Amino acid sequence: MQHHPRKEHSSEETYTAHMRIDPHTHSSFSDGTDTPTELLSKARDAGLDVIGLTDHDTVAGWEEAERAVATSGVSLLRGMEISCAWQGISMHLLSYLHDPAYLPLSDACLRARETRVTRAQEMVALLAVDFPITYEEVVQQAGGAVTIGRPHIADALVAKGCFPDRSAAFAGPLHNGSPYYVRHWALDPVDAVALVRAAGGVPVVAHPRASKRQKKLIPDEVFGQMKDVGLAGVEVDHRDHGPEQREQAAEIAQRYDLMMSGASDYHGAGKPNLLGENLMPEAMLETILEEGALPLVTP
Ligand code: AMP
Ligand code: FE
Ligand code: FE
Ligand code: ZN
Repeated sequence: MQHHPRKEHSSEETYTAHMRIDPHTHSSFSDGTDTPTELLSKARDAGLDVIGLTDHDTVAGWEEAERAVATSGVSLLRGMEISCAWQGISMHLLSYLHDPAYLPLSDACLRARETRVTRAQEMVALLAVDFPITYEEVVQQAGGAVTIGRPHIADALVAKGCFPDRSAAFAGPLHNGSPYYVRHWALDPVDAVALVRAAGGVPVVAHPRASKRQKKLIPDEVFGQMKDVGLAGVEVDHRDHGPEQREQAAEIAQRYDLMMSGASDYHGAGKPNLLGENLMPEAMLETILEEGALPLVTP
C-alpha cells in the first residue's frame, strides 16, 4: 500500500496534495456498529484527514460526530445515504452537505424510516416460520439506531446462533432475491437528486454496479436522467465493485460527465470493509465544498 503523509499545516493552502478522504461510512445511528465518536477516533487511527458520515436515511448522527471532530483531529463531511428504488431495483444516493431542515427531503427520509419498521416486522413474520426470531429481538439488536434495516435482523439471527455473521445471513434468507425479502418505500432516484439539490446538497450515486446485491441493475440512461437534474458524481472504487464493475462505473461517469469517487462504506464490525480502503480524490471534495450548503467541520 502507498504511504500517505498526514496533513501538514500550511498558511497558504487548506490541504496538502495527500489528503486522505473516506466519504462514505455508517455509525450505530443506522447499520454501523461504531458510535460517531468511535468512528472518528478510528478514522484518526486509520490516518484519515476527512471522514464522511453517511448513515442510511438519517442525519441523527451528525451532532455527535461534530462534537468528536476536535478530539479526533479528523474533519467531518456531513452526509446521508438515501434509499431509492427504480422499478423495484434498489439504489443508494449519497447526499453531501445538504440543509437538514429542508422538509421535502427530511420528510421523505422519515417516510423511508417508518416503512423500514413495518417492512422489518413483515420480514420477521415471514422468517419466524423457519427461524427462532421475534421483532423485539431485532429492536434490541438495533440499540439506539434511528434507521432499522436488514443488518439488525441479521444481528438477531446471529445472536440466536443461526448464522456466524451478518454476511452469512445476507447470503441466506436476507438476500434481495430471498422469499423472506420485503421492500420498503423508497424515493425515485431522479426525484431524490432533485430534492438533494433543492436542499443545497451534492448528490453522488453509491456503488451503482454492486451486482452481488441484486440481479437487476439500473440502466445507464437513468444516470443520464439523474445528471439532468443535478447528479454530481458516482462511486467507482468500492469493495462491492470488481475490476469489471469499476470499469462500467467509470464509463457511466465519462458518458454523463460525473465526478468519480471512492469509499470504504465502512460499517464497523458489521462488514469486512476497512476505513480508508478506498478514497475520494481531493478535487472532488473541493467541488462538493463549493457546491454544498454547509461547510466541512474542521478541528
Ligand atoms: P436494507 O437497507 O434494510 O435493505 O439493508 C441493506 C443494508 O444491508 C446495506 O446498507 C448494507 O449495509 C447491508 N448489507 C448488504 N449486504 C450485506 C452483507 N453481505 N453483509 C453485511 N451487510 C450487508
Ligand atoms: Fe448499510
Ligand atoms: Fe449503500
Ligand atoms: Zn453505505
